[in-house]
Amino acid sequence: MSFPFDNSYARLPARFHARLAPTPVPEPRLIHLNRGLAEELGIDPDWLGGPDGVAVLAGNRVAEGSEPLAAAYAGHQFGNFVPQLGDGRAILLGEVIDRHGRRRDIQLKGAGPTPFSRSGDGRAAFGPVLREYLVSEAMAALGIPTTRALAAVATGAPVIRETVLPGAVLTRVAASHIRVGTFQFFAARRDTDGLQALVDHVIARHYPEIGGDGGDRVRALIEAVVGRQADLVARWLLVGFVHGVMNTDNMSVAGETIDYGPCAFLDAYDARTTFSSIDRNGRYAYGQQPRIALWNLTRFAETLLPLLAADEDEAIKQAEAALATFGPRFDAAYRGGLARKVGLSELREGDAELCGDLLRLMAENQADHTLTFRLLCAAAEDPEADGPVRERFVDPTAYDGWALRWRERLAEEPGEPSARGRSMRAVNPAFIPRNYRVEAMIEAAIERNDFAPFETLLAVLSRPYDDQPEHARYAEAPEGGGVGYRTFCGT
Ligand code: AMP
Ligand code: MG
Repeated sequence: MSFPFDNSYARLPARFHARLAPTPVPEPRLIHLNRGLAEELGIDPDWLGGPDGVAVLAGNRVAEGSEPLAAAYAGHQFGNFVPQLGDGRAILLGEVIDRHGRRRDIQLKGAGPTPFSRSGDGRAAFGPVLREYLVSEAMAALGIPTTRALAAVATGAPVIRETVLPGAVLTRVAASHIRVGTFQFFAARRDTDGLQALVDHVIARHYPEIGGDGGDRVRALIEAVVGRQADLVARWLLVGFVHGVMNTDNMSVAGETIDYGPCAFLDAYDARTTFSSIDRNGRYAYGQQPRIALWNLTRFAETLLPLLAADEDEAIKQAEAALATFGPRFDAAYRGGLARKVGLSELREGDAELCGDLLRLMAENQADHTLTFRLLCAAAEDPEADGPVRERFVDPTAYDGWALRWRERLAEEPGEPSARGRSMRAVNPAFIPRNYRVEAMIEAAIERNDFAPFETLLAVLSRPYDDQPEHARYAEAPEGGGVGYRTFCGT
């Protein structure tokens, strides 16, 4: 058997999804296969990369045991509620239990139209597929919960966007594709039975530790989802990630980063940064992400009010209490993470201010987010290494004043400077998917059919915390701090 499928979502009631097979493509050609991930999923990578496997990855063949479906969901897009979105170009092939015993979805993105496509063509362009492949794998290597990329296949058919572009299909792997918007779909229809079935499914699948019954169980679910999301957004901020389109349909209840459309990483540190061309008001700016996560989670909790308590006031009280855990959880994750980035093993009084001041000075001096923290690792070992950090600041003396305070605080830390440098390097990546590199990679692939930049970048980004001196140029910041970089919604 090709895939060891066990499809729990397909067993949910019929109104959860539309069953249909992917639409075949004219000329499938494998661009890249994630062999390590295939093995982790219990799929033979040689088979998957061969003609039969590629036919499945292109949507030209339905594998044995697959029960393909498009999932129904709703969502708030830029704050406006859309009662029906759904998988408009994604088709879930099924689920497998991986080598670690974890249930994982295998989904094709760009597999043709579905009943949820609305005016869309159900397809994906090559550039955004390569971008999602690379960035999601980079996030995984950074240790951040994320969907993964199993394969990219060129279709041989054009897709029409602003211009005519080559088409591709991405095979995405996720803990599940259940979103805040999935809950909203049933809540909008006042389908309490559907909601209850979804709650039971999500608890069994993602939060099996939750016990109790009735409203207590639902409250525990909200708190658990809130906790994972708070941790996730803290981790995004700590590596300079801007998701770009945090609509409620793009927020996984399993706590994974999902939907890599207009996402990008900060170069120069500025909390107001937005990259997405359609995010005109900065709703999804870097520094807005915690606030927006809580807004989305509030929409999530609202869907569950009918299951929290029979009395509405009591239900609202329960929901508010669960949502109130977001702030402390996020602060602990973010502040603790920031402290570790500057070499502090625990938070003491004044540390949050010390870290906040560094960020403020970085913003005022257009310091590169990734490089500043990475160069600090050497400076923590030896003040002689201050030079390269100073150079990241428009006014290097801004760093000097801060460094004095930092060193006073470091002197109170236990442990040797070399051990401190090592632990700092484990949380401050040298390599992130630099926007200019990602663009150049896409251009080489599309314009010149040259996949060498993709392969190299993927390999470099698979070890983001290692120095890799031979690839030092991939760590470089762009000219001018990357100001003005724009991403497009990747459809
Ligand atoms: P996204 O902005 O990628 O999260 O997508 C929002 C909604 O639009 C989802 O319901 C998608 O399935 C749908 N969608 C995006 N692109 C396409 C497309 N090319 N064809 C059909 N539906 C699409
Ligand atoms: Mg989406």
